[in-house]
Amino acid sequence: MELLALSVAELQRKLRGKEVSPVEVLDALDARIAQVDPQVHGYLSRDLAAAKEEAQRVDLSLPLGGVPIAIKDVINVEGAPCTCGSKMLENYRAPYNATVIGKLRAAGAIPFGRCNMDEFAMGSSTENSAFGPTFNPWDTTRIPGGSSGGSAAVVAAGEAFAALGSDTGGSIRQPAALCGVVGLKPTYGRVSRFGLVAFASSLDQIGPFTKTVRDSGLILNAIAGRDPHDSTSLSEPVPDYTALLGQDLKGLRLGMPREYFIEGIDPQVDAAVRAAIRQYESLGAEIVEVSLPNTEHAVGVYYIVATAECSANLARFDGVRYGHRAAGAMSLLDQYGRTREEGFGPEVKRRIVLGTFVLSSGYSEAYYGRAQKVRTLIRRDFDAAFEKVDAIICPTSPEVAFRIGDRSDDPLKMYLADIFTIAANLAGICGLSLPCGFAEMEGRQLPIGLQLLGKPFEEAKLLQIAHAYEQSTDWHKARPPL
Ligand code: GLN
Repeated sequence: MELLALSVAELQRKLRGKEVSPVEVLDALDARIAQVDPQVHGYLSRDLAAAKEEAQRVDLSLPLGGVPIAIKDVINVEGAPCTCGSKMLENYRAPYNATVIGKLRAAGAIPFGRCNMDEFAMGSSTENSAFGPTFNPWDTTRIPGGSSGGSAAVVAAGEAFAALGSDTGGSIRQPAALCGVVGLKPTYGRVSRFGLVAFASSLDQIGPFTKTVRDSGLILNAIAGRDPHDSTSLSEPVPDYTALLGQDLKGLRLGMPREYFIEGIDPQVDAAVRAAIRQYESLGAEIVEVSLPNTEHAVGVYYIVATAECSANLARFDGVRYGHRAAGAMSLLDQYGRTREEGFGPEVKRRIVLGTFVLSSGYSEAYYGRAQKVRTLIRRDFDAAFEKVDAIICPTSPEVAFRIGDRSDDPLKMYLADIFTIAANLAGICGLSLPCGFAEMEGRQLPIGLQLLGKPFEEAKLLQIAHAYEQSTDWHKARPPL
């Protein structure tokens, strides 16, 4: 377990110094997965032999040389399954590598293991996986958050050193918060999505789950940058994302958005976040109240934009080109219908129906068109706030992990879990969640996440701000009782 408790940075140091070999690391990881994953169910598949083969050739002098990294099952790794948590792609094998996979390998990392997720990344609890839920390592009767719940849980449970996830409306930050790890959603356009199965193309970003803030910067260093295969990726220079770590916070201004400290948020979450804010003051940051007046519209706008885009993106799963194909169809249309009826789960169907409706003729201006306008207002709220502050500080999630099954019958209540994370995707800015304490629930400790939101392409500063707090507390050292 000691080896498995290491951060990516510490592990890489040991690998480079030949204190441990990449094959030994993979074996230790595999044994740990065999031991705890029956309780967590964070992995859908893994190929130890292929990873070991790769480990033979790896250059240990590279920044991530020899470090295994788990991958959410929505990112293509050539030859590996990529189920997206869906029956539709149960038997699909990726025919090519996502750009982030090539970049991780170029930095020496070894992709190992595929993480469970809500079907096609739609959900906040990982209960929408067609292959059964993931369980929160802090309390296995509870959800790990979602949609990247598997990625968050395996890092928390010491079954991975780091993982990649995707964040369309909070799917990295919210599960990171609920599992007590660091989750970073980069700026829209910072990381290529080539090879990420698309959910909502104007919102999706790939980012890392790690135990520490430094590790988050190390992985972002590897995956960031312009990619000719993804026209939405931007050519902004890629700095060293660890360069500002350790610099103090004197003179930095952090904004507390009035609209994020509201009734209905769990009192233990509220208290932990306020304590973190006081800690920031003692670290030399200045706390300023800011207002994001259109916050109340974010969830509504998101569920129009995201469903509209998903209805278009998921049209490709027609039983002809990808994945599952229904048997016994009487005509082409019948085959489409049966394939999608059998292949998609209820939440995905609900989103496709909603998205098709908001785009349908006669309604699209009233719904989709207006949502786009309000989205602009949400972005302007952030522009205005960032004129006054360097970053925004708030809770990641209004509550800690809830019990498996608690929200399953109430989609609207589930959607509200995203209330603090969604606006960052709509605005395209970067955001990060890091551990800031625990709530006591029926004798259990459940992690609480602190969210920091930054200006586009200011991940380095965001990581600096996160790192200063992390280093002044012990929250990131706590491990679940598994
Ligand atoms: N929970 C949100 C949803 O269900 C966000 C998902 C995501 O970020 N992929 O759509």
